[in-house]
Amino acid sequence: MELIDTHAHLDEDAFAPDLDEVLLHAEQAGLTSIITIGTTAASSARSIELAASTPFVWASVGIHPNYASEAHHGDWEIIETLVRETKVVALGETGLDKYWDFAPLDVQRQYFSRHLALSRETGLPFIVHCRDAEDEVLEILEAAAKVGPLNGVMHSFCGSEETGRRCLDWGMYLSFSGMITYKKNKELLEMAARCPDDRILVETDAPYLAPTPHRGKRNESAFVKQTAQHLADAKGMPLDELSYLTTENARRLFQLTVVD
Ligand SMILES: [Zn+2]
Repeated sequence: MELIDTHAHLDEDAFAPDLDEVLLHAEQAGLTSIITIGTTAASSARSIELAASTPFVWASVGIHPNYASEAHHGDWEIIETLVRETKVVALGETGLDKYWDFAPLDVQRQYFSRHLALSRETGLPFIVHCRDAEDEVLEILEAAAKVGPLNGVMHSFCGSEETGRRCLDWGMYLSFSGMITYKKNKELLEMAARCPDDRILVETDAPYLAPTPHRGKRNESAFVKQTAQHLADAKGMPLDELSYLTTENARRLFQLTVVD
């Protein structure tokens, strides 16, 4: 069985004391790849370093909407340079967040548009963070979709079925996190189970959003297995089959090549 954690933040302080062990747990759990996600110019550079030193780790570079107003002059140009590095497989995370309200929405929008434009230019997929901003995110994606199909993913998807449907129609993937394992999110799990087999991904968003039974603790990539198990049960398919599907999807979207 193989699994890929398509979204983790391995460069965060939470992993500083024992990252080697976290990576070992991931391998023991059957993970063959982890994509570590940059949130600032510095975090993107750290993510690339991690990917360079760990065969099964890949990097995404970008500026998270919650860090958009902290970004310094020149940070975006750093991202435009980092994007050319080997093992960079995606852009983001980007998107909009009205829950935390850390950056003015127009600044978040500006960065979101930049990621989308860079995605078109480089052919790399973009990773969308959407929190309490579904209408605004859809508006931007809809405009982008007028130019052509969207090569991206809604990460830790928890939007409405209609939103999911529209994103799928535009060519995007939906990625599900430990949130689908929480009892209160039964509807979200049922919706995830209806996501087409060729567009579904799993992720941890570690160190956040630990799945049941680790909820409330630090999350780590190995725990993607619990999320996959919940999804497999909801879809009525063996874990092996679900793992195969989601792994193939992740390889296709992020163009992961097998590295030994
Ligand atoms: Zn994230």
